[in-house]
Amino acid sequence: MLIDAHVHLDKYGDLLDDALREIEQKKIFTVATAMDAPSYAELTLIAESSPLVLPTFGVHPRRARQYAGRLREMDSLIEGSPAIGEIGLDFHWEKDTSTYPAQVKVLEYFFAAAREQNKFVNLHTKGGEKEILNLLEKYDVRRPIIHWYSGPLDILRAMIQYGCYFTVGVEVHHSDHIKAIANEIPDHLLLTETDNPGGLKWLKGELGMPSAIANVVETVAALRQSTPERIERLVYGNFARLIKDDPWLHDIQALLARPES
Ligand SMILES: [Zn+2]
Repeated sequence: MLIDAHVHLDKYGDLLDDALREIEQKKIFTVATAMDAPSYAELTLIAESSPLVLPTFGVHPRRARQYAGRLREMDSLIEGSPAIGEIGLDFHWEKDTSTYPAQVKVLEYFFAAAREQNKFVNLHTKGGEKEILNLLEKYDVRRPIIHWYSGPLDILRAMIQYGCYFTVGVEVHHSDHIKAIANEIPDHLLLTETDNPGGLKWLKGELGMPSAIANVVETVAALRQSTPERIERLVYGNFARLIKDDPWLHDIQALLARPES
């Protein structure tokens, strides 16, 4: 089974049915990360049509300003969500520095909840890698997934020490820095993602479908002198370990434990 650990399924629009069909046909377990409350509401509806889709609630750093003043109102969504994401910091694409305190406030709120509720988190770290590592330590967040890491290698190594999992995605086909990162991540912390439909669109101008995850696996395999089959199994095993004792994911544990057809 393929693992796409960071996807924006609610952004597929007219292509949603095609995307869901690919997910079913290729058996892609899909962590569907939300940008905000309306996005999470859509994802929970979408997830009703496939057991392979796990919707998770978060407030993206670029939406932080709208939510920083009403975080308490988010409690029921946070409690109802089986995991947390997309959350994080963006001090790179977000040029408006006046949003940064709101970003930190929102992230701290979600980190505290994730720790208390024992949920894995899906993190956007662009330009805020060091701050995120500090906050992971401060809140003792267990089981972070760092999505599309593209920051400095020294922070990457510190995050590896901390025990973060990392998704490698579609940029691995194009960027030497991402290739270096994909090589540096130890076997036991490696995950894969597409960040689609926007991931490929951002890179190549074409909308990315779920099956793009197979190309990521192929490229990662070639980089790591492995085979696609071995990388697929490795990532699958890593994700299964990440959620092994998760009190919120018994159904998924059972799904992943089933022998693959
Ligand atoms: Zn994302």
